[in-house]
Amino acid sequence: MMPVCLIRACETSTTNDHVMCAAHWRLVPAHIKDRVWATWRARQAAGHTPVTVQKHVAAKLAAVRAVHGRNESHGGVGLPGAAAGT
Ligand SMILES: [Zn+2]
Repeated sequence: MMPVCLIRACETSTTNDHVMCAAHWRLVPAHIKDRVWATWRARQAAGHTPVTVQKHVAAKLAAVRAVHGRNESHGGVGLPGAAAGT
C-alpha cells in the first residue's frame, strides 16, 4: 500500500517515510520540519523504540496540524482525539 499525503482531501501518494506530499510539506513551518527530521533521525538511531516512534509521530501530527491551520480559520484539524479537551 502506497503511503499518501496526510493532509485532508489530499490523496497525493508520497514516497516511503514522507509525511505528506512535497506541495504540502512546503507549507510546514521550518521549526516543525526540523523537529520531524530530528525525531526521525533519533528514531532510526535508537532502533525504533516505542518512545522514539511516539515522538516522531507527534512531530508528524504537529506538521499536519500546522498545514490544516493554514488552510482553515475555524481550527478543525480532522485528527482522532484532536477535539478532546477543547
Ligand atoms: Zn498533499
